Amino acid sequence: MEETNSIQIYGHQYKIIVKMAPHLQEKELKVFADKEKREFFILAGQKVLRSELQKAILVKVKQIAKEILTSRTRVLAAQVGYAPKRLAIKDTRTRWGSCSSLGNINLSWRLILAPPEHCDYVIFHELAHLKHHDHSSLFWNFLRSVCPYYVQSQHWFRENGHTLHKI
Ligand SMILES: [Zn+2]
Repeated sequence: MEETNSIQIYGHQYKIIVKMAPHLQEKELKVFADKEKREFFILAGQKVLRSELQKAILVKVKQIAKEILTSRTRVLAAQVGYAPKRLAIKDTRTRWGSCSSLGNINLSWRLILAPPEHCDYVIFHELAHLKHHDHSSLFWNFLRSVCPYYVQSQHWFRENGHTLHKI
């Protein structure tokens, strides 16, 4: 049995290919992520549950999210002129990102499920907090100067943010 599905990661379609593998133990599961080919390849024993498959895929998706968000933060920090002391990628329920007064930034891994420009907006937003630790007009002016489309992104998250919690 073979099953093909897909997932959108930072604007790119990744194929999810699941193959039942009789030579594996009944509960055995092997997941391979190929960033170049943009696919997840899963070999599963006969008795692997769907929920176990999803969990295993999610682990790989989170790894890729960490790589993408780390490199995007590096690129955008160079544009903004401020870099975080520490960057952590988390699975936060309520916030897409946050910036502490110590200059540490947290981002939700789920941001990579959003269109790239809106993912970038959240990174811009948190980086801008490294200059202005509030939501003053100085903050919004600075954010606009580095991310002119920020209002569209805020709108996008209001309308579509919940969809990022579907997986
Ligand atoms: Zn903010």
